[in-house]
Amino acid sequence: MVRTNDRSSGACAACKHRRMKCRGVQCPMAPYFPANKSQELINVLKLFGFKNITKTLRTINPLKKQDYINSIIDEANARAFDPVCGCIPLISSLNEELNFFKAELDRVLQQLAMYKSHYPCPTNTHDVNMNYPAIVQNNQEFVGVDQENVGAADLGN
Ligand SMILES: [Zn+2]
Repeated sequence: MVRTNDRSSGACAACKHRRMKCRGVQCPMAPYFPANKSQELINVLKLFGFKNITKTLRTINPLKKQDYINSIIDEANARAFDPVCGCIPLISSLNEELNFFKAELDRVLQQLAMYKSHYPCPTNTHDVNMNYPAIVQNNQEFVGVDQENVGAADLGN
């Protein structure tokens, strides 16, 4: 339960948790753990510890700090949800998804290669309709030019 006193103090979740006075802008944890992220902070502190987090925040590239915080929050939340496996089920799920999309990409590339081998690309892109009338206009399988109709049209002229 959040006390009204804590809300009005403006302390970050880390300083509230440690019962210290927050230094606001100078507090190393304040930008990443505002007062409303107390549960994420508790999960992160259980897994990594306050000293390790502040030490890492001091040593890493400032541009990478938010990525680091996001990473440890995700890992700590996964570990809080599943204390035995942590983020392994999520990684496995993402690997399966990646393999599925790789296989789908392979199928699409094979189809593309097949279509390219059956219907070579014209050198002049403005002549696409002249070279691919059956595919482009009818959206059906290309069986070649209907020689009987062409001959009949030629005879009519
Ligand atoms: Zn603070």
